[in-house]
Amino acid sequence: MQTEKVDVLVIGAGPAGTVAASIIHQAGYTVKIVEKQKFPRFVIGESLLPRCMEALTEAKFVEALEKRDFQKKYGAKFVKGDAICDFTFENQYTDGWKWTWQVPRADFDTTLADTVQEMGVPVEYETTVTAIRFNGSDSVTTVEDINGNKKEIEARFIVDGSGYGRVIPKLFNLEKESVLQPRKALFAHTVDKKRYMDAEPNRITAVVHKKGTWIWIIPFSTGVTSLGFVSEPDFFEGFEGNNEEKYRAMLEAEPFTRERFRDVELVFEPRILESWSATTDKFYGEGYVLTGNVTEFLDPIFSSGVTLATVSSQTAAKLVIRKLKGEAVDWEKEYMEPTMQGVNVFRSYVMAWYEGTLDTIFFRKDPDETIKRQICSVLAGYVWDTTNPYVAKHDTLPKRLARMIGVTDKMQDLDVK
Ligand code: FAD
Repeated sequence: MQTEKVDVLVIGAGPAGTVAASIIHQAGYTVKIVEKQKFPRFVIGESLLPRCMEALTEAKFVEALEKRDFQKKYGAKFVKGDAICDFTFENQYTDGWKWTWQVPRADFDTTLADTVQEMGVPVEYETTVTAIRFNGSDSVTTVEDINGNKKEIEARFIVDGSGYGRVIPKLFNLEKESVLQPRKALFAHTVDKKRYMDAEPNRITAVVHKKGTWIWIIPFSTGVTSLGFVSEPDFFEGFEGNNEEKYRAMLEAEPFTRERFRDVELVFEPRILESWSATTDKFYGEGYVLTGNVTEFLDPIFSSGVTLATVSSQTAAKLVIRKLKGEAVDWEKEYMEPTMQGVNVFRSYVMAWYEGTLDTIFFRKDPDETIKRQICSVLAGYVWDTTNPYVAKHDTLPKRLARMIGVTDKMQDLDVK
């Protein structure tokens, strides 16, 4: 069997894989990416967060991305009936990026992969990892192309950025169930001609349809808007017909989408994704590190996926470089803990969203501007800024605030009566 040698083998050419590959390559090591699919390929995850711009900058991807004219995103709007809560990243607690992009991922990921290839990192498409043997931190990976040709790649280190493929967790039985309830999404891209009627294109909108069911609306610069429903699986059973019939009936059932999306042209037949939450016990081992979705994917509500993917890769890449230089790396302290910090903050907010805690906070009549700025930084992805009380006390503070709002509202009701 043909054998190749590299310093670092990266599995997957999504945002996680390409960010890690670029940073390690810039440090002078030989890197190769193997990617199962042919690009451009569809993947969901179209709304980015400002924090990911720091990782994209370090990977030297921003210049190439700017040329693509993607829709700039300046905030996130939450809607429930007549109530609106609009977050603008300008008005946030943490001193960070004030904007990011809303992107068709096929184009975005192809730009990242093409850019890293132009830098000198080969990307081998339609090449799947089928087996890995470790000998200490050295490894031999077997890959297979679409014609069934196999070869082996020897590497000093592996970065697994295989996303939903979860290559290393699957090969080495490291998978663990998520604590989050299984949810399902039905989504499509729409030719959104009436977009200016009731929504600004420069932010995403999340519409609460009913408790536990919400809709994402993500306008792209192309005039196409991504729109998806997320709920528990039972919700979708309440609609008749095939995916398109169900999707159109759901659009009709929600006042916010009814008129704007009635008879809208669909770019593709609505698709279903379900039970996406997944995790593993440990995000590293001798000779490998897991980055991006392979570590843990929570839920789409706060658009955390690409940010956690790129930031985990940014952190991991620098540790891999130190390891290759022969320096000691405390993977638990320097990688697992910061990665879990981000995951844990977002997990608290995801749970607070589905429990209704954030509804109470977001849709209160006179929001406290200081608190709004602090929560805005969480929604911008600055979940490592522990000077922000809504980051530091992510699991208690939103609940306490919602309880206080509940009590104040009750007292005001009594006053009125
Ligand atoms: P990916 O982008 O999935 O890339 C991994 C790559 O690895 C793929 O190209 C795959 O082909 C390749 N691969 C897999 N197996 C192998 C193998 N054996 N050999 C070689 N290559 C392999 N995130 C956001 O940030 N914003 C959103 O708005 C958002 N919305 C979402 C909506 C839904 C319904 C869901 C389920 C997720 C959403 N996400 C969102 C999450 C987002 O999809 C992911 O977090 C993001 O794509 C992770 O990037 P990645 O680089 O880790 O993985």
